[in-house]
Amino acid sequence: EKVPLFRFLDRAAHKWPNRKAIVFKNWSVSYAKLKTMSEVFAANLKAAGIRKGDRVALMLPNLPQTIVAFWGVIRAGAIGVLTNPLYMETEIVHQFNDAGVRCCITLDLLWPKLEKLRDAIPVEKFYVTTIGEGLKFPLNVLYKLQAKKAGTTPKIPYDGKEVLPFKLLLKGRSKFTEEKIVAEDTALLQYTGGTTGVAKGCVLTHFNLGANLQQCQSMIHSLGRQRETFLGILPYFHIYGLTTCLTWPTSMGATLAPFPRYVPLDVLKGIHKLKPTVFPGAPAVYISLLQQKDVDKYDISSINVCVSGSAPMPVEYMEQFEKRTGTAISEGYGLTEASPVTHFNPLHGVRKSGSIGLPFPDTDAKVVDMDVGGEALPPGKLGELAVRGPQVMKEYYNRPDATADVLRNGWLYTGDIAYMDEEGYFFIVDRKKDLIISGGYNIYPREIDEVLHAHPKIDEAVSVGIPHEARGEIVKAYVVVKEGETLTRSDVIAYCREKLANYKVPRRVEFRRELPKTMVGKVLRRALRDEEVAKMQ
Ligand code: ATP
Repeated sequence: EKVPLFRFLDRAAHKWPNRKAIVFKNWSVSYAKLKTMSEVFAANLKAAGIRKGDRVALMLPNLPQTIVAFWGVIRAGAIGVLTNPLYMETEIVHQFNDAGVRCCITLDLLWPKLEKLRDAIPVEKFYVTTIGEGLKFPLNVLYKLQAKKAGTTPKIPYDGKEVLPFKLLLKGRSKFTEEKIVAEDTALLQYTGGTTGVAKGCVLTHFNLGANLQQCQSMIHSLGRQRETFLGILPYFHIYGLTTCLTWPTSMGATLAPFPRYVPLDVLKGIHKLKPTVFPGAPAVYISLLQQKDVDKYDISSINVCVSGSAPMPVEYMEQFEKRTGTAISEGYGLTEASPVTHFNPLHGVRKSGSIGLPFPDTDAKVVDMDVGGEALPPGKLGELAVRGPQVMKEYYNRPDATADVLRNGWLYTGDIAYMDEEGYFFIVDRKKDLIISGGYNIYPREIDEVLHAHPKIDEAVSVGIPHEARGEIVKAYVVVKEGETLTRSDVIAYCREKLANYKVPRRVEFRRELPKTMVGKVLRRALRDEEVAKMQ
């Protein structure tokens, strides 16, 4: 259905005006009120000179304000640029300049970072919020006291012109004349995770995003018959969190429960108290919850649906999670370029461990030759995964060459190596960019990682191809040993020898206390490889 994205909020507000749209600590807001707030917000943005197509950055953790601002920005016809609050200065400068951000909505705690960059970014107006501001949120005072005690409330130099309080955008009644916004208009410039290289801006339209939430809905159609509550742990600034924890639940009149910071124990307590029914997560999230000592003390039985995506979910942990909680995790797959979801294991059909499941409704998927692309390969054959559907982006912003690389003949080439089984289930083997070629052999590091993960004394492990004169590349494993355990390099190698063909066995092993990761918990193999290359020079 081709409508601007905010129509999904409007419909929810029409159908369920009194349902709670957001709960945050003791504060909540109804759907009717959320709609009005987003209209007021859009009207105020327009009055402040923001026009259709202008880029507005939201640099915020998961808070009620983030949800209001998101709907307000896209209702105004502006283009949202969702920014990771933990971005380093160089990343902010890159993103804001690349996107041409005119206005930035942020949190007081992040202000010091932005203030330093004012000359380096094109932002004309900043709107700054505090955790409870503008929403008559009762913890406001408490938060200020806490922050003051810790000496961390930065003084914001409000000047009435360029640096303004966020609450101005919530003021007044909506006398909102809606812009002409069509489904093909751009809603977001959504930056990729930057796991394999510099982050690129994906042009996602209202239609792309609306299509993906409807696809989520039709794949899990049993949801939304009753009132659902969605746990909002995944960051809204990432497309996976945005679709699964914000736009999709909104369309079914579910209650959103945002968590600004991921602290496993708080999450367990939150589940205990809020009784959410749906828990969109990622491997790092589920694994860290399982590692909490007191996980069994908390009642998490309200959760009916767990979905995992963004990175491979080790099968061993999936089984453990199901055993401990009674709820299975369904794995799906997606990428920023596809708003993001393209595959999912059906909840009510056959779920296959280790598989990303079946293509979404209206989504075509095929595995093609890694070098030449083209026609679909038969089941069982490894190749690059290509997808086609209404959720696929229009292009990369200002990058015609990168666009031409990945969008070919209507298909999106994902850069992931996959195969399909006889029943049409897809399996991701690895990323093309992570493939290790050693002495002419193709080695898929994920296979080695799975073997290492299964070792009883290993907490986490990742293998990387490092340059080698004779063999091109050799495998190096980075291993984090479980607390209280000891392991030697030769133990690891001997263990791998038992489980893997000789050419896949890591030639080097390094023990680490932790592994470098992106914000959504993906291991930065690139960083490890770069370290190694730097050492060689
Ligand atoms: P960049 O593209 O800038 O390197 P990124 O790949 O992290 O960053 P995202 O769009 O956030 O950007 O991530 C998409 C990628 O995540 C996919 O291409 C795939 O490699 C990986 N992925 C997502 N879901 C799964 C899954 N279930 N199993 C394995 N890999 C997955």
